[in-house]
Amino acid sequence: MPRPPTLPSRLPRVGTTIFTIMSRLAAEHGAINLSQGFPDFAPPQLLLEQLHHHLAQDCHQYAPLAGVPALREAIAAKVAALYGRQYDAETEVTITAGGTQALTTAIMACVRPGDEVVVFAPVYDSYIPAIELNGGVVRVATLRAPHYRPDWNEVRALLSPRTRLILLNTPHNPTGSIWSAADMEALAALVRGTDILLLADEVYEHMVYDGARHESLALYPDLAARAFIVSSFGKTYHITGWKIAYCLAPAPLMAEFRKAHQFNVFCVFHPAQRALADFMVADPGFALGLAAFYQARRDFFRTALSGSRLALLPCAGSYFQLADYSALSDEPDTEFARRLTIEHGVAAIPLSAFHPEGTGQRIVRFCFAKHEDTLSRAAERLCRL
Ligand code: PMP
Ligand code: GLN
Repeated sequence: MPRPPTLPSRLPRVGTTIFTIMSRLAAEHGAINLSQGFPDFAPPQLLLEQLHHHLAQDCHQYAPLAGVPALREAIAAKVAALYGRQYDAETEVTITAGGTQALTTAIMACVRPGDEVVVFAPVYDSYIPAIELNGGVVRVATLRAPHYRPDWNEVRALLSPRTRLILLNTPHNPTGSIWSAADMEALAALVRGTDILLLADEVYEHMVYDGARHESLALYPDLAARAFIVSSFGKTYHITGWKIAYCLAPAPLMAEFRKAHQFNVFCVFHPAQRALADFMVADPGFALGLAAFYQARRDFFRTALSGSRLALLPCAGSYFQLADYSALSDEPDTEFARRLTIEHGVAAIPLSAFHPEGTGQRIVRFCFAKHEDTLSRAAERLCRL
């Protein structure tokens, strides 16, 4: 075979994602996998029945570009009920192939070469590559342990006339922190009078604990007017493998989003959209029950780890728990996570995977979206460390 031409990498600093690496290592060593974030519970039975039903119907050809109308309408109704903002299902809601695609498509639609985009580190792993593939320049604001609150003076100092977009994530992966109403007001004050756009990753919107409210950008007219908001059915209905999510945005912004979306995927798996539309109408309470469901798991896991030498950081939302292992080891987090998987049978994600420049911290992330039995077996092993 002749040698293929040399391809200078467009993502020279990127390798395989840490989620793939750790899940593979967990499988190789038979470890309990609390690394990659996914639940080990079944999706709601009714949703599976509705999927079976639609698979037997005539919906095997392309869905509409923006998504099945009934699903867009169900989403618009949910968002209006929860956050008091009415999105037009026809022009302001688009179904995507997962949250990752929605985020990447929004970035494609907004960012041109030289545009600056503010992100908050720890930062979800797909954001920076997506910005850089579009020629954007990343500006990093730092969220600091233990509460990982945004520092609004730092954010203000990062803004420039070239700032196109601020990309935020609440509830936050990996830290489990959530933004407050005061954060939203600070953000509104920063962007007022500018053309800065917002991209809000709200895929964990239904996982907010201790009675707190999820501060969706949809609650704030000044913010929603300049925002793309992303949520994912993968998180809400325990179906990460279905890769279906949605994006909300005011019509002129959504028009630009759809221009990119149509050449990116065009449309999304049709039968699942119909099933999700039925399920949202049949069981609107499922999503609302998620906070109590996951709060119980968070509390179970934290209690089970109370006898360990791990120091648990606060967790106000999401299905992730950070743990500081500095009382156990001085190893860098990637080595600790590897050894934990291979020698102790519990896989976790090193926090440095979420930092563009790495971190000297001794912190790993556990996913607690698991049956109590899985969590207690993992905790037993962790308590022996
Ligand atoms: N954003 C965050 C913060 C996530 O944690 C994830 C998935 N874990 C996504 C986006 C992507 O969602 P999806 O799996 O629907 O692509
Ligand atoms: N978002 C999930 C996590 O944080 C993983 C998703 C993926 O593997 N791409 O673990």
